[in-house]
Amino acid sequence: MILAVSLPLSTWRSGVYLIAIIGFVIALKGLSSPRHARQGNLVGAAAAILAVAITFTDPAVNHSARNLALALAAMALGAAIAVPAARMVKMTAMPQMVAIFNGVGGGAAALISVGELLHFHSVGVSPPTYEVVEALLGVLIGSVSFAGSAIAFAKLQELMATRPIVYPAQQPINAVVGAGVLALFLLAVVTGSVGWALGALGLSLVLGAIFVLPIGGADVPVLISLLNAFTGLAVAASGFTLGNNLLIVAGTLVGASGMLLTRLMSKAMGRSLPNILFSAFGAVVTATGAVEGEEGRSVRTSTPDDIGVLLAYARKVVIVPGYGLAVAQAQHVIKELADSLASRGVDVFYAIHPVAGRMPGHMNVLLAEANVPYDELKEMDEANPEMPTADVALVVGANDTVNPAADDTPGSPIYGMPIIHADQAQHVVFLKRSMRPGFAGIDNELLFDEKTVLLFGDAKDTLQKLVAAVAAA
Ligand code: NDP
Repeated sequence: MILAVSLPLSTWRSGVYLIAIIGFVIALKGLSSPRHARQGNLVGAAAAILAVAITFTDPAVNHSARNLALALAAMALGAAIAVPAARMVKMTAMPQMVAIFNGVGGGAAALISVGELLHFHSVGVSPPTYEVVEALLGVLIGSVSFAGSAIAFAKLQELMATRPIVYPAQQPINAVVGAGVLALFLLAVVTGSVGWALGALGLSLVLGAIFVLPIGGADVPVLISLLNAFTGLAVAASGFTLGNNLLIVAGTLVGASGMLLTRLMSKAMGRSLPNILFSAFGAVVTATGAVEGEEGRSVRTSTPDDIGVLLAYARKVVIVPGYGLAVAQAQHVIKELADSLASRGVDVFYAIHPVAGRMPGHMNVLLAEANVPYDELKEMDEANPEMPTADVALVVGANDTVNPAADDTPGSPIYGMPIIHADQAQHVVFLKRSMRPGFAGIDNELLFDEKTVLLFGDAKDTLQKLVAAVAAA
């Protein structure tokens, strides 16, 4: 006990950092399942508060009242902007919120590294080469992440064209700019000049922006996940620069989990990462005219009363939710419908595609908001074997994630993407507002299938009518 009390403050700080690091790892574990995600989030937030609070005992932060006041003022300003923004953001606007928060993180990591380089310069010391390399890596990766995230935000917020922006010799130009960044990086390392380092920062901002321009449409959320991994690496680099183990571990965790998420998302979309980053996906779709509607072909429509009867007397109903459920904010009413069917003895569950919606876990979060029990949610691999025994697949605002073109149309932009096999159910009912395609911009043959019927209208309205129809059946 006496030994513990007599330990220097820096050792105490390291101990608390270690507790915070363990908290981050536990948080990540919790976030990997919808059942524990909420607790994981709370543990992560508590660990972050602990880490930030203990940092104020560091003489480097606390050595002047002015520094302390500036740090507290920056935190208060950040909180005043971020807390209301995060509380008010619509679920469908979450990807752009993640993009902007991520960009700010990358920018902060870059600024910390710039500050450290300027510090070396102002005190006239020539630091060892590895310290300059660490600081420069923080500058470069952080700036690419900042500029890339800013463009991704502008695209998702529709402040600029959301489609891929392509121009002649785009990839060679990007390669030349990338080589320029590398040259400035080497010059800064060899000469130790802050001027070259600032040049590298400027060109990295350009690289971040032009790297993102040709990526558009449904690929932007994958890009954000990749930029998130970059921000993690930039933070880890600043951790090396500042000699702070907490930043090194936290940055590496963000970098690794961002990379894993990027891989999982590209796999769930049936695409390789290089294809997402360099193929200007949306541009190809538009160029081939695949977004054109198929005029002259008819679809079968029905009424909520008829579908209500079909559902009420079914044995098994599989609900396939998609982006439209989020747009319609119909999560509560869909639960009402599922509960009312279950109370009649119908076997009901939700089939969740990994990229349904516009961000990973979108459907899980949405349905959790309506308190849908987790055991009613089945992942795609678990749901698909049950599809042939389903009487009805009720597709609510989903499109690409049930489009059989992914299986049988080589050359289709979504060819190779695993889908939920709604087409294998006895009846397929689509709830959507029009014949417009989903995010990939391509027609869905399943809409024209003879076992498919469409209920046109906003999903929330239609579901409310279905609840009434089932009750009356
Ligand atoms: P889609 O984008 O394919 O389709 C959404 C459907 O919802 C459309 O058919 C639309 O038709 C309908 N809809 C929209 N609003 C409403 C409403 N208010 N009421 C009823 N229907 C509505 O959605 P999916 O979820 O099937 O697919 C997700 C797509 O996003 C995939 O292409 C995926 O690759 C992509 N993506 C997903 C990511 C993720 O992490 N989740 C990340 C990156 C991309 P209509 O307009 O006629 O109503």
